[in-house]
Order: sequence, then structure tokens, then C-alpha cells
Amino acid sequence: MSNAERVDFRRDLHQHPEPAWCEYYTTARIVDALETRGIDRILVGPEILQSGRRGVPSTSTQQEWKEQALEAGAREDIVSRLTDGQTGAMAVIENGPGPTVALRVDIDGLPITEDTTDEHLPSTAGFRSTHEGYMHACGHDGHATIGIGVLDQLLQSEFDGTVKIIFQPGEEQIVGAEPIVHAGIIDDVDYLYATHLGLDHPTGTIVAGISEFLAVSQFETSFYGSAAHAGAHPESGENAVQALAAAVQNLYAIPRHSEGATRVNVGTVSGGTATNIIPESATISGEIRGETTQLMESTETQAHQIMESAARMHDCEMEIDTMGRAPSAESDSELIETVATVAGETAQVESVVRRDSLGGSEDATHMMRHVQQNGGKATYVAIGTDHPGGHHTPRFDIDEQSLEIGVAVLADAITKTLHEPWAGVSSRESQTPDSIAGLRRSNLDCGFLSLSQSGNWWALDFQLSFVTPDWSWSTAQPRRRLHSVS
Ligand SMILES: [Zn+2]
Repeated sequence: MSNAERVDFRRDLHQHPEPAWCEYYTTARIVDALETRGIDRILVGPEILQSGRRGVPSTSTQQEWKEQALEAGAREDIVSRLTDGQTGAMAVIENGPGPTVALRVDIDGLPITEDTTDEHLPSTAGFRSTHEGYMHACGHDGHATIGIGVLDQLLQSEFDGTVKIIFQPGEEQIVGAEPIVHAGIIDDVDYLYATHLGLDHPTGTIVAGISEFLAVSQFETSFYGSAAHAGAHPESGENAVQALAAAVQNLYAIPRHSEGATRVNVGTVSGGTATNIIPESATISGEIRGETTQLMESTETQAHQIMESAARMHDCEMEIDTMGRAPSAESDSELIETVATVAGETAQVESVVRRDSLGGSEDATHMMRHVQQNGGKATYVAIGTDHPGGHHTPRFDIDEQSLEIGVAVLADAITKTLHEPWAGVSSRESQTPDSIAGLRRSNLDCGFLSLSQSGNWWALDFQLSFVTPDWSWSTAQPRRRLHSVS
């Protein structure tokens, strides 16, 4: 993909922003692009998602988006495979034994009306959103484009191992990553890269590892009372809006926590039908965040108590629906080093920041933690881009030059990881104090499973366990270690 083709691809996606589980056009365009490239395996929505997804829109909403996608020229054979709003895709390149490295990019848009003024480039250059009320206001059109660009670069380079590029739906509602993890398609991933454009970093800056993601839980709570004539018999009603009001007031009264930052926000409220009717139903939606998963969860427990008590206070029933949810996560220093090294060697990169905190949430953390819990490494890379408006505002836009930088840095980082898969681990071992290393050697048991060779690599599959009188640990599944023959 040349630079000009990348820009065209991104602008095409920009014109067709789609919300969670409705990314029909976007997925079809991505899969179409993958098919022209002779990728080993291309999986679509139902093959990469486990059932039980959160926040799935109604069948009629799905249908509207599906028709809109087809009208805009999405390939019908691809769209028809995305049953029940199961959007997204994964491309797999398999080159024999070797590490499995994944790149996750997200593809969804936001419910926000795009700017129409002359100061907004998509508007003046004719690629403003054609879906009124929706917009790529966070750069995910650019992320999908970077995913294709990285694939192109990897298809031209030689490596042993497997690369998976995951085009994830539903990030904005924090609902897409969890079903991907549960589908098991990243169980074998040794190294995971996730990425985002911008995040208030200018073009030419690369942040090798974003950390301190706020854990988040989004909720929608409905209060149910009973209607009554507001003049004649107000005492016989049960006022759902009163319950709602008590809940909102007191949610914000949850005290701050000494162990770290927490956040509470009620983002929408609705309820009642007329001035002269005691309202019988009301709904709020909001979110809880915390610097750690624990802080988020303890605040969430309090929030649930408050909403339950508010309902009881006004004799109402209530129901809490948990929407998107994501844990906190940290990037691993081994991959941060890899990204920082390649970024430092990339022509258009002017500044390399090793670590920065996000101050927000991202559901890539589900994937990062899953890979880390399986003994792998993960990092979340920010590709700086000059953005005139802030993220999630009508004037957000990306500097398209950053697409090229993102492709170069991520493709090089992935290639380096494939070529030197254990560089990170050995550098970590060298930092282990002698006393611990001795203890580890004496208590470590390595169950040898198999040895295979392909190209320049020996692949050793093994299972490790470590047992002391106080605790034990073992790898949940066989791990693979690679050795270069040369
Ligand atoms: Zn985003």
C-alpha cells in the first residue's frame, strides 16, 4: 500500500463511521483489502468472537447499518457472514515455528456529529462522514489503515513465526476485546502490540508503552415505579424519577479513595412521560473508573448499593445492566525497549517517549492482561498525530503523515520481535539477583514436550513449574522457546 493508497483507504473509512457491532462497511472493506493480498487465513466476526457479547444493538438497528453498508458498496458476500452484528476480522500470516506476535487495532466510530466548517479538513476535502450523527472522532479509521499497512510490510519481510492482525470492533463502548479473548484466538500470542493515534502527542512522537489505564465499568440502570395522577392521587404513585434523582446525587457522593484515583460519571438520564403523571420509569447510564481494577471494583460496589438504596427509598424496583468493562493494565518493559529502539531509527520520528500514562480507559487491556497472564508480553504504543480538535470532539482529525510513521514503527517492532523473540526475556533474567536465580534453578522443573525445526529456528515446546514449600506456579499451557540455528 503506497502512501496515497493508505490515505484513500483511511478517507473511505472516515466517510463511513459505524458504532459497536455495526461495523459492516468497515469490516467488509478491511476483509476485501486482505483478500487481495493473499493472506494465509482471514477470519471474520463470528470466527473471532465468543457469544455473550455486551451492548449488542437491536436486530432492526443492525439491519439499518447493514443496508447502509451495502448501499455504500460493501461486498454482500462478506457482510452476510457478519451474523448478529458480529463484526471485525483477523488476518493471520503463518511462517512455521516461531513466536506468535499480534497487533490489535480498533475500527469503530462514535455517535457525534462531524464539524461542517471550513476549518475542518474532512469537510473541505470532501471526506466528511456520510453517516450523519456518527463520526470517526478518535482516529480508528487510521488504526484500521495502519493494520493493513503493517500487514503489507510484514508480507514483504522474512520471518519465522505467526503474525495476527486483529481488527477489533466495539472499542468505544468497551465491548469488543473481551469476546475476542474468550474466543481463544489470542491464547497462543506471545507478544501483543496494541496502538492508538494521537492521545495528545504530536506527529513525530512515539510513546513506546502506555500504562496506567483506568479500569472501567459502564452501567445502565432502570428504575421502575408506578404511575398515578399527579393532582388527584400523587400518594398512590411510586416515583421512578425521584429514585433516579436520589441515585445521581449520591453516586457523586462516593468518597475519593486514599489508594488512588477513582471516577464516577452519570452520562445520561431519562424518565417520565408528562407533567401530570407520576413517572413510572426512569433510566440512567454512567461509568465508574479506577486507577486499579480493585479501586474500580470497590467504587462499583458502593455505586450499586447507592442505586439499590435509592430505589428502595422511593418504593421502586431497579435493574442494573453492566455494559462495557475493562481492567487496568501495564505495558511490559521488554516490548517498550523494542519499540523505543526501532522508533529511534525511524526517519520521521522526532521524539521517543518510553512511558506515559493514558488517564483514560481502553479495552485492549483485556487482551494485554490475557497475554501477560499466559506468560507473554504486551505493550500499548501511541503514535503521535497533530489533531486540531480533541479526541471525541466534532473537529477531531488526524495528520495523515502519522499513518506512515505508525506503519513503519509497528512493522519494524513486530519484525524485530519475531527475529529476537527472547531478547527481552534474557535481559530480564540478567537483572535477577543471584539468590533468587539460585532458588529458581533449584525449584524449577521443565517438562520437555517436543522439538521441531523449520527454517533457521528450533522450536522447543515445554511446560515449566516452580515449587517451593510455600507456593507453586506452572505455565497453564505449553510454552514455546525458539533458538536460531545459526
Ligand atoms: Zn480511540
